[in-house]
Amino acid sequence: MILHPVFAEGDERLVCALSTRLGGVSTGSFGMNLSFSVGDDPAAVEENRRRFFAAAGVPPDRVVFQRQVHGATVRHVQTPGVVDATDGIYTATPGLYLCVTVADCVPVFLYDPEAGAVGVIHAGWRGTVAGIVAEGVAAMTRELGARPARMKAYIGPSAGVCCYVVGDEVSSRLPASCVVATSGGLAADLKRANEEILEGTGIPARSIVVDQACTICGSARYHSHRRDGARSGRMMGVMGLRPVG
Ligand SMILES: [Zn+2]
Repeated sequence: MILHPVFAEGDERLVCALSTRLGGVSTGSFGMNLSFSVGDDPAAVEENRRRFFAAAGVPPDRVVFQRQVHGATVRHVQTPGVVDATDGIYTATPGLYLCVTVADCVPVFLYDPEAGAVGVIHAGWRGTVAGIVAEGVAAMTRELGARPARMKAYIGPSAGVCCYVVGDEVSSRLPASCVVATSGGLAADLKRANEEILEGTGIPARSIVVDQACTICGSARYHSHRRDGARSGRMMGVMGLRPVG
């Protein structure tokens, strides 16, 4: 099962899709797992990736993967392959499709239709606190001619404030607007935190779509590292622009 964010509707060029835990061939809680790094059978992951890219309409040899490290580094990419030690990639090259892998961390998708620029960001709590989404917007503006005023952003399914109870090392670094007291302790609203940072870059609030789905309590549909631990699979988001003509 593949999700297509409303943010991409009506735009013939834009490809933007997210996997769920459904529709894969891996066993147990892995299901539709798209990561080779979580102890799943590599042959099953290959098949899951083949299915995902086919459903998304993405040629598998035109994909860029990231080796994510919970940092705040973003990089400009112009060729397919694997980019090491980065948590955000962006491009203005048509026919190149950028991937981000998540379980509870926040996947953020950035798009300037006029500049033909797209970017995907992996924002866990560390990346969120470090402002990686602002780094992404700034880099796309500086290097690809994007402008925040006409950019669109989509914040995907991720750990929700309903479930994401955190320690002081997280809650103390977030704005008060993004920390909520629950019966289980303080919970972090990383979606809201990233939304606030994006608004701060100049992207209009109306151009930011937030998927409120929570990966932790959304067990029927989403992978969650918080919920399933070492047996958690990973979902993947992919974004790119189809070549013209
Ligand atoms: Zn929840």
